[in-house]
Amino acid sequence: MKATKLSTLISSMRFSSAASSSSTISLNPSGRLQQTLAGSVELKGKALHSGKLSTVKLLPEIAGSGRYFEFRSGSIPASIEFAQESPLCTTLMKDGIKIRTVEHLLSALEAKGIDNCRIQIENESVDDHEVEVPIFDGSAKEWVDAIEEVGVSVARNRGGESVDKMVAYLNKPVHVCKNDSFVAAFPALETRITCGIDFQQVAAIGCQWFSWRPLHDSSFAKDIAPSRTFCVYEEVERMREAGLIKGGSLDNAIVCSAEHGWMNPPLRFDNEPCRHKILDLIGDLSLVAQGGNGGLPIAHIVAFKAGHALHTDFARRLTMD
Ligand SMILES: [Zn+2]
Repeated sequence: MKATKLSTLISSMRFSSAASSSSTISLNPSGRLQQTLAGSVELKGKALHSGKLSTVKLLPEIAGSGRYFEFRSGSIPASIEFAQESPLCTTLMKDGIKIRTVEHLLSALEAKGIDNCRIQIENESVDDHEVEVPIFDGSAKEWVDAIEEVGVSVARNRGGESVDKMVAYLNKPVHVCKNDSFVAAFPALETRITCGIDFQQVAAIGCQWFSWRPLHDSSFAKDIAPSRTFCVYEEVERMREAGLIKGGSLDNAIVCSAEHGWMNPPLRFDNEPCRHKILDLIGDLSLVAQGGNGGLPIAHIVAFKAGHALHTDFARRLTMD
């Protein structure tokens, strides 16, 4: 990190602690401008849970708008306020309309600095009140490639001016937990995410830890985005019976059997499951973002055996005071 950036961060942290030491987070300038896409891009693919085809169009949006979905005649901000607990994915719900499996797309947008974006989504059934973001290969690679292809530009407000991007600085440690799972965060000078998982009954997954920080602009695209959703083969039947993963196949997840190990190798990383947890966590924490500012806080976030429900509890906890 350059000395100038470090000194800006330290002075920001001093400012934040002086300004509001009792609140969990303080919004301070990130030193960057709000961004959006340089053009539009459309992607089409199968949904993991419903098995239906969805079309997603990402469009540029003005500074201050943030990220939001449009489905039918409704609009849902990609905000924690509208997040709903749902099995195996993160769902946004407003006025009876649901957008499911938003996490991989939002992770790519947050990590690539697409702060303002209009996300139009449709599926093949005209009467549905819910729609699901396509799963592709189970990673965020397709989204990152699309964003990189269309490019990123400075977002301007209605007056044509650029706008400073604010980011949340954590002022004090905070955590949420359930049984032996937790998400905790500690004040830090830069963002770092450390994730752990422990599948004692599935030897090929076992206990894994990975710690990641965005060292440079391409580190998300290289180290996190290609990691795919994983599932345990012996649990797949149970999920199908529950009406989930109708679109699931060996093409959109890495599947591991407790008895026989990985069923569709090779893995993209030795610790691909653990890296995917970081991908999911970034997507879920992106829901903290408001008005085109950053969602992921400046903090060291540590998650162990956490899933979407605990991630979103943690996101809510961040915004509580
Ligand atoms: Zn995921």
